[in-house]
Amino acid sequence: MSIPFRLTLAVGLVFSAAVMAADGPRVLFFSKSAGYEHGVIKVENDAPSHVEKAIRPLVDAMGGELTATKDGAVISAARLDDFDVVVFYTTEDLCNGETGDKTPAVSATGMMELLEWVKKGGGLVGYHCASDTWHRARNQFSPESPYLDMLGGEFRGHGKQFVGTLRVVDKTHPTMPHIKDGWEINDEWYLFEGLQAETMHVLALLDPADERTRQDKYALPNYPVIWCSTPGEGRVFYNAMGHREDVWDNAAFQAAFVDAVQWASGEGEGAATPNFADVVPADLDPKTGDTKK
Ligand SMILES: [Zn+2]
Repeated sequence: MSIPFRLTLAVGLVFSAAVMAADGPRVLFFSKSAGYEHGVIKVENDAPSHVEKAIRPLVDAMGGELTATKDGAVISAARLDDFDVVVFYTTEDLCNGETGDKTPAVSATGMMELLEWVKKGGGLVGYHCASDTWHRARNQFSPESPYLDMLGGEFRGHGKQFVGTLRVVDKTHPTMPHIKDGWEINDEWYLFEGLQAETMHVLALLDPADERTRQDKYALPNYPVIWCSTPGEGRVFYNAMGHREDVWDNAAFQAAFVDAVQWASGEGEGAATPNFADVVPADLDPKTGDTKK
């Protein structure tokens, strides 16, 4: 009699351990476009977007849960508590429900509720156009953008797509094991202004290399394109990549997405000491994102 009982107990313990181990992050993928709508997050005929199709199996494999939406109502104190990590792939003034994809607006207090949620321990992960969101001058509620201050930089434009080279400046960071120093990859490379040099921990720079001679816009010192910070108890990670479908299909990029979400959910060391002055060329002006005059 005792043997089956012990077996049942053992199976029960193994089962609950497996359930515990599979208890991964609850991830919100938010892709409202109040301005330009990228093809990779377009939802047509209720089919999941390209990005959602790429990341759902990754979140599943983490034992996590993915919610994908463009409904701005989700960015509120009450709703955000259901998540560990919020991933932004958004454009322009998210408090506007009449422009772009015309999906429901974030409330007038939603941005601040998001930032408070991060400071209390939430994880904010921004890709690509997350920096083309809640611009300083174009925000209807404020000429300031506490959101961009927290994210770390503001989109100011881009040129033609090209194969850029990544220069990893913190190879040991928990978000970087799958981003190889010297990685060459084709994407639409964002240019920035308002880089938050005082708070950001820079992880990788873009080296435009020969593109400097082809497109004046990129005649710049190497500049940050992947960075993170730890405001309050929370974690913020930004990667400027992700315009193209084939970037989201890239195995290394996908592995790095998993690393970023896990880190943002609180796993591993925060390791986000500001390092801008140590790793970014001294002739890059963080305010303008251009060469110092
Ligand atoms: Zn783009």
